[in-house]
Amino acid sequence: KERTLGMIKPDGVSGNYTEEIKRIIVDSGFSIVNERLTQLDKETASAFYEEHSSRSFFPDLVSYMTSGPVLAMVLEKRDAVSDWRGLIGPTDAQKAKISHPHSIRALCGKDSQRNCVHGSDSISSAEREIKFFFEDVVSD
Ligand code: ATP
Repeated sequence: KERTLGMIKPDGVSGNYTEEIKRIIVDSGFSIVNERLTQLDKETASAFYEEHSSRSFFPDLVSYMTSGPVLAMVLEKRDAVSDWRGLIGPTDAQKAKISHPHSIRALCGKDSQRNCVHGSDSISSAEREIKFFFEDVVSD
């Protein structure tokens, strides 16, 4: 079995989508093997998204990701990385509503930034991101 890092972003948590998203996760055959509700600070949010640090949207992305608590989850199933990416849908939630109406981003996302959930994009980023939340980032 494979593991990936799933995250409910601040808009998903504050919009009360946590229970519904978890139900979709379990109904789709994933096990939630670990989870942590945590408030990212600027430094940790910047480190998490460091690959985007030169993008024009980076400062807004960091403000968004620090605007409230996030729920990080270790999700396990066969083909977890690609199956979770499929379940969340495209980055832009507006487009998701049209092209992937049953996706999680269509359910609770708003636009290309406030898209409600995150998923690791490869097995190597899954390993990095699981370590990030469950070993490196100080828990609370
Ligand atoms: P994630 O990595 O969060 O799962 P993703 O892989 O679908 O999302 P990336 O291209 O890695 O998308 O972008 C990371 C995050 O940065 C997006 O989820 C979104 O919140 C934000 N973002 C991406 N593109 C834009 C944009 N054009 N404008 C504003 N925010 C953006």
